[in-house]
Amino acid sequence: MRLHLRRTIQNGEPVRLDGNVPVERSIEGRTDVISASPFQADLTAYPSLDGMVEVRGTLTGHLDMVCSRCLEPAHVDLHIPFEERFKEREEGEEDLEDEEDFIFSDEDAVELSPYLEEYVTLGIPAAPLCKEDCKGLCQTCGTNLNETACGCDNTVIDPRLAGLKDFFK
Ligand SMILES: [Zn+2]
Ligand SMILES: [Zn+2]
Repeated sequence: MRLHLRRTIQNGEPVRLDGNVPVERSIEGRTDVISASPFQADLTAYPSLDGMVEVRGTLTGHLDMVCSRCLEPAHVDLHIPFEERFKEREEGEEDLEDEEDFIFSDEDAVELSPYLEEYVTLGIPAAPLCKEDCKGLCQTCGTNLNETACGCDNTVIDPRLAGLKDFFK
């Protein structure tokens, strides 16, 4: 998906940018992702008078992942907000180290895919859940506690109070 900076600024009107976001690299090496749908980008490019083009919108898709608590499949719907500003580099313009709230482009046409991919990569949850209140697996016997209760005593005792427990025996 390409953004043409000069044309967008010359036209002075917002431009819709829609398309697919490749997700192969975002899920590469992640053992907790079973499969991913193609992600859809719904974006609008807004030109501004100072030569910037702001791209805003949403990246939408879904993933089949492994629940981080019970290891059953977890269906994850993602709506990732996207927002970046681009500016074509003019003669002699250097990157400003700290206060960069926009991206310099050496070309008139910016390939947006790498930026979109990065947002997808960051938007994938680190600890997905099959449902919000997933009870997980019993840490003693491994039973899926969403399905059955196992009766193990998994009470976690503060080590500082462990001595007291023996005291009351
Ligand atoms: Zn679960
Ligand atoms: Zn158990």
